[in-house]
Amino acid sequence: MNMTSTIKSAIQHHPRQFGLMRYVYPVVSRRSGGVSIGINLTPDGTCQFSCVYCQVLAEAGRSYKQFNETIDLQRLDDELRQVVTVVLNGSLFADGSLFAGIDRGIRLNDFAFSGDGEPTMSPMFTAAVERAAAVRTELCSDDVRLVLITNATRLCNADVVVGLERLTKSNGEIWAKLDAGTEHHYKYVSRSHVPFATIIKNITETAKHFPLVIQTCLFATNNESPDKKEIEAYIKQIKGIVANGGKILRLQLYTVARKTPEPQVTPLDNEVLDKIAEQVRNETGIKTEAFYSR
Ligand code: SF4
Repeated sequence: MNMTSTIKSAIQHHPRQFGLMRYVYPVVSRRSGGVSIGINLTPDGTCQFSCVYCQVLAEAGRSYKQFNETIDLQRLDDELRQVVTVVLNGSLFADGSLFAGIDRGIRLNDFAFSGDGEPTMSPMFTAAVERAAAVRTELCSDDVRLVLITNATRLCNADVVVGLERLTKSNGEIWAKLDAGTEHHYKYVSRSHVPFATIIKNITETAKHFPLVIQTCLFATNNESPDKKEIEAYIKQIKGIVANGGKILRLQLYTVARKTPEPQVTPLDNEVLDKIAEQVRNETGIKTEAFYSR
């Protein structure tokens, strides 16, 4: 593998396994524009969604199960310290590593609660945020963020809100998934029992109090681009969130980049994604970014 393909591989494959670590893994992230240190609170795979494009489902070849794992906070703390150290001293990018060839000066952007499922499903979510915040304060500069990547199903649960308060005190942001404008499309994409209205309410309420970014996955189905009416409904939902007091920092539109569990679900062409992003940006007035699959 040459240098370019090594870097491309590190960026595209986003391996969530790093050595023998259980909870922590580094990623070179297009969306965060630097190195993101992933924190996986659901390594056994727990989520209320079963998205048609989910890479984890595609890899595991199964449906999600209920969460039954206790997080070993000391292990998480140790792993986080080790990964922060190798990112900051540059040894992560040594010759022969998956990250070889990446500029050692690349910035550490964030610690991202993400991984194999929905982080807020862990009953130890808030405790894990506390640990990560303490490590960040001790080892990193103030511009390193804590980020929660979430499907938005539990954002208004009292135990989660405590974690959000702590996270946002550490230069944190919540990146909430909103993949649809209509209940019909939401159900098709998420295959979840959680009502669409709950997702909209949770995002709206959270965006009133905390810095929030919306992430939207758009894809082709049987080679067809997303329906125009669905995009219009999505824009209406975004405007509704704002009209009801939610402040959205930016919208991130992306497409599938890896294997999906459903063969009819494929990446959207860059031009189509750009066009939709332009429409969303023009009609909502919110900064809207498009992230290509390649
Ligand atoms: S919410 Fe995320 S982890 Fe859960 S099924 Fe969807 S893509 Fe996978």
